[in-house]
Amino acid sequence: MTTTQFNSEARSQYKAKAFAAASAGSPLSPITIPRRDPGEHDVQLETLFCGICHSDLHIVRSEWSAMPTVYPCVPGHEIVGRVTKVGSAVTKFKPGDVAAVGCMVDSDGDCTECRDGLEQYCPHVTFTYNSPDAHLGCVTYGGYSDSIVVKDHFVLHVPSNLNLAGVAPLLCAGITTYSPMRHWGITKGKKVGVVGLGGLGHMAVKIANALGANVVVFTTSSNKKEDALRLGADEVVVSRDTNQMSRHVNSLDFILDAVSAEHDINLYLQLLRRDGNMTLVGAPEKPHALAAFSLIMKRRSLSGSNIGGIAETQEMLDFCGKNNITADVEVIPMQKVNEAYERLSRADVKYRFSIDMSSLKSQ
Ligand code: NAP
Ligand code: ZN
Repeated sequence: MTTTQFNSEARSQYKAKAFAAASAGSPLSPITIPRRDPGEHDVQLETLFCGICHSDLHIVRSEWSAMPTVYPCVPGHEIVGRVTKVGSAVTKFKPGDVAAVGCMVDSDGDCTECRDGLEQYCPHVTFTYNSPDAHLGCVTYGGYSDSIVVKDHFVLHVPSNLNLAGVAPLLCAGITTYSPMRHWGITKGKKVGVVGLGGLGHMAVKIANALGANVVVFTTSSNKKEDALRLGADEVVVSRDTNQMSRHVNSLDFILDAVSAEHDINLYLQLLRRDGNMTLVGAPEKPHALAAFSLIMKRRSLSGSNIGGIAETQEMLDFCGKNNITADVEVIPMQKVNEAYERLSRADVKYRFSIDMSSLKSQ
């Protein structure tokens, strides 16, 4: 064995119940997976709720060529749980605490990105699922499981006033929308567009509203109008209606694009004012077509953003605690996950599925 490999045989482990996809075309079904016994710096959680992100669907169906899926795949990166065991060096958590885990479970800890608190951009980041697992030699397995073991740095504190089923989605949908809005300086009085009222989009509306922005929702679903206003939007535009779209040309400071499927980004870029920015968080399977003039004529910029660092994720959770923000969830048992995926692929969820993980006990 070389020094760069972990001694996976020597690492003591236990078995956990989970749901996995066996291939890109198969439904999720019960499986038993290995978990490492908690080491010195580890926190073991009994999972209570796990949100269903559209990324789970992209990855289960192997839609991202840049991130090929290894099967069996146990998705889930919006995890809330109860601490069952901690390693001897863990000081921030104790058994019985409610805690949360998002999209990352490890990083190298000493690169520029990690030192800047941006672990999500670390070249050695370990994502919660579908990343090489340095401890067990397989890939990491996510939150659709009754238990998970995570290095303490990647475990977060949950504000005590929030409903836990609705907290789970904050760990991806919350931070993925909070981080770019903080980065691009969204404050009171800014005009912010949110494209796509799904799991991410509805969190973006709540957070932008709490930051004091004037929020315009762009949706393809005219039946989501009332909801958008209730969630905190000041205006709702049905994006297929060119008249409604044209009223916002050259006016928005910032647009967050949270659409999971192919669409024309140029239609939204022209709504930005001079020097305005549009950030892509939605990650459709196919590349976007970009017309250079959408940017050139008003010095607009187009960027992307990946979740958020650990310190900022804690900041977001505390912000949500202070502002009483959780996701609007449909709570489902694990056994309904395939039906939920079908509905998610049709943009038919209000606005996030949250799996009640106690349902796995009877499996
Ligand atoms: P979601 O709940 O399925 O929401 C996506 C929304 O996109 C839908 O509700 C719908 O909104 C809109 N949409 C769907 N199909 C469309 C189409 N053909 N044309 C136009 N609009 C369409 O998904 P999500 O969980 O919020 O995730 C959204 C995207 O973000 C996914 O691609 C996901 O992988 C990605 N993501 C990225 C990050 C990151 O760090 N960058 C993190 C998490 C997720 P309307 O009905 O309002 O039109
Ligand atoms: Zn996600």
